[in-house]
Amino acid sequence: MQLIWEEFLKIIKEEAGSQIVETWFKAVSLEEWDGSTNIITLRVPNQFVSRWIQDHYTELLKTHLARLLHAPIFKLNFVCSTQPAVQRTRNIIPASVLPRTLAEQDQPSLSQHTQIPQAGKGSAVIPAKQEDLVPSNKKERDRTGNNLNEQYHFDNFVVGVSNSLAHAAAYAICENLGRVYNPLFIYGGTGLGKTHLLHAIGNEARKRNPNIIVRYETSDNFLNDFINSIRFDRSHLFRSRYHKVDLILFDDIQFLSNKEQTQETFFHIFNVLYEQQKQIVLSSDTFPKEIAGLQNRLKSRMEWGLVADIQIPDLETKLAILTKKAVIHSIKLPDDVAEFIASRVISNIRELEGLLIRVGAFASLTNQQITLELAKKVLLNMTEGRRDGEQLDTIIKVVAKHYAVSLNDIRSKKRHQDISTVRQVAFYMMKKLSNCSLQVIGSYIGGRDHSTVIHAISKVENLRENNPAFAQKLKTIEQEIITN
Ligand code: ADP
Ligand code: MG
Repeated sequence: MQLIWEEFLKIIKEEAGSQIVETWFKAVSLEEWDGSTNIITLRVPNQFVSRWIQDHYTELLKTHLARLLHAPIFKLNFVCSTQPAVQRTRNIIPASVLPRTLAEQDQPSLSQHTQIPQAGKGSAVIPAKQEDLVPSNKKERDRTGNNLNEQYHFDNFVVGVSNSLAHAAAYAICENLGRVYNPLFIYGGTGLGKTHLLHAIGNEARKRNPNIIVRYETSDNFLNDFINSIRFDRSHLFRSRYHKVDLILFDDIQFLSNKEQTQETFFHIFNVLYEQQKQIVLSSDTFPKEIAGLQNRLKSRMEWGLVADIQIPDLETKLAILTKKAVIHSIKLPDDVAEFIASRVISNIRELEGLLIRVGAFASLTNQQITLELAKKVLLNMTEGRRDGEQLDTIIKVVAKHYAVSLNDIRSKKRHQDISTVRQVAFYMMKKLSNCSLQVIGSYIGGRDHSTVIHAISKVENLRENNPAFAQKLKTIEQEIITN
């Protein structure tokens, strides 16, 4: 095995350069080859190296090891040095089922950053996303090298007013890749489901046609690979690997901002794919025009197809998501607890899920049922969202009480003059007394957009100027909110 591995390293050195061998393959060894199952086991120092190699060098490994071992097809099995010997043999063990301590040991020592080679500068510290460092059994690569997360599909994506356009467009393109909306550009704040939708598109498209080649790419990965390709004078190869794909899912495009050369290459890839009517899906945290440091010609291309936004979810959608996630995580979630959690977190579904898991884990570890009391105890002093959520809760309650209307009426779409005024007062107070953005405030009161909030506030200000009794009432309400 050692001889074969050394032979392999020689080939890789020639083909990819000695830096790649030094950085990624030196600490790896060929542990076992099972001729009956054609499974090859590689021992890697940690999960990060394992992930990196799987994401970048699977094809290289397969091609050359197959030749050296005269084994045309095989699966690659990665085991970490920290795994005990019994588990090392043959079993393919998802890291997530390892005992926690083992999985933790497998984390790279630099928990937030990782050294990667960079053109001409030795090495650079590039922030690695936590999710990329977490060992994942979800992102398995299939035979075409796709790296879709199979946990994310349309079935477990909850649709509400806030994301219905993005969802509908995402689903529609799967039917007829490259023909309906191309590119599809999805934008929205962090943790609102962009990555989920991108993977869902990939999974759905492959379900319909398993032969297509799908590539999911984050822009920081793209950037790293691009830098490496220049370093090894392989930028033509880098480009060409995208030319084969039928569907490209390009996540978090905003990270390409101010990276001129990378944008240049991206532009080239975009054009080639677009001309061949290959489907392009892009995501970003803002509207194309608002991405700072992005070439104008790229911005305009991104708007050629359909631009769909994902807004902050309303309470109902948050509750539906919580219910769905509770089922997925086998957590028994009473309605009042779901409402409590949903009102804690305003603008981030990832955080919403985090709180749910926290409550669920606490209940299961201490062998208790989940109750409102327990949830309050567990989530006490947690998250910024809690404070914002409580501020808004207080404001809407005080306003509702003063005008003797129900919270539901304020949140509803009713347009009676009376209800509209109360709603406008609530918007006004929220803007004045909370730290929340207009977008958050709008979504808190029945999923209104920020222009509705601005309009409401100016109406209240007008009334205040021209109606002393109304101005006095506002003062009283404000006092009560502050002292609440
Ligand atoms: P983004 O990429 O926009 O930052 P993600 O796609 O990573 O957000 O979503 C964060 C988490 O929230 C994921 O676990 C995802 O499954 C979940 N999530 C987001 N939107 C929805 C939704 N509409 N239904 C179900 N889960 C969702
Ligand atoms: Mg994302």
